[in-house]
Amino acid sequence: MIIILKKETEKKDIDIILNKIKENNLEPLYLPGIEKIVIGAIGDERVLATLNLDALPFVERILPVLTPYKLVSRDFKHEDTIINVKGVNIGKEFVVMAGPCAVENEQQLTITAKSVKKSGANVLRGGAYKPRSSPYSFQGLGVQGLKLLKKVGDELNLQVITEVISPETAETVAEYADILQVGTRNMQNFDLLKRLGKIKKPVLLKRGMSATVEELLMAAEYIMSEGNHNVILCERGIRTFETATRNTLDLGIVPLLKQKTHLPVIVDPSHATGIRALVAPMAKAALVAGADGLIIEVHYNPEAAKSDGMQSLYPDQFDALMQNLKILAKVSGKEMR
Ligand code: PEP
Ligand code: MN
Repeated sequence: MIIILKKETEKKDIDIILNKIKENNLEPLYLPGIEKIVIGAIGDERVLATLNLDALPFVERILPVLTPYKLVSRDFKHEDTIINVKGVNIGKEFVVMAGPCAVENEQQLTITAKSVKKSGANVLRGGAYKPRSSPYSFQGLGVQGLKLLKKVGDELNLQVITEVISPETAETVAEYADILQVGTRNMQNFDLLKRLGKIKKPVLLKRGMSATVEELLMAAEYIMSEGNHNVILCERGIRTFETATRNTLDLGIVPLLKQKTHLPVIVDPSHATGIRALVAPMAKAALVAGADGLIIEVHYNPEAAKSDGMQSLYPDQFDALMQNLKILAKVSGKEMR
């Protein structure tokens, strides 16, 4: 439920409402906006209805939140959420995260990271724990991979993002990474989501390969309801009848999500297509569709990549794409460094 207070409401009156909500074992949320003061109350709406809050003189309106997700909803928070990751403002400027699918060794990571940095990437990606379809495929370097990622990120002054695949390893990953990625296979790993909600580092939540928009938003709600409001959503393609591409990029959900939620939305054209030649066109389409950023696989030598070489861009392709994105950002009224 959303309680909208008159603009001039004093702090003592705001506290009256917050306390009433708490006394009834509901969770209060104070969301001061520029135009209005909004108080959220999470929990059983029937209890709230009995409190007669609309009788208070400083209450302007009370609105039910009709969606099953609350904290995630734009009804709850009108302004865009901006997540500041050491100076990179996700949700404000157009952010590009790039790097190899997996951290393979120091040389591979360093060469690739230097090239993406030179081309203008803001965040370095690289998996240390790889959730592979086959148990016989490369599973990632684990903690050694995390250490390499942090080392190279620090050397090049790049923020780093990497995937967390289990609640047990979440704290360890959080020691090294600036953004924690939840992969498509774990979007509904609720124990993991709850753990990440407690850790409070920014989380990039990828859409499950067969998840609906509502399921994606409810997964984000899991993280936020534990206290971590720094969630970035990511469309990375879904399973359809079409097998000509690895997945089907569902670009329509980008503007749809921007309506439904205040959270930043980014697109992964690499896993969405699985085909190198399709990555740049879909990356550009994502920007124009209103995405807040991209996460793209780049490898200095894709033929030798231990995973996802087919969809990894060569550094010069990534560089050309970045130049094009900068032009598109300008005409789309987006900030891009
Ligand atoms: C990845 O980013 O390397 C990855 C495994 O992504 P997804 O979870 O979208 O398949
Ligand atoms: Mn990959």
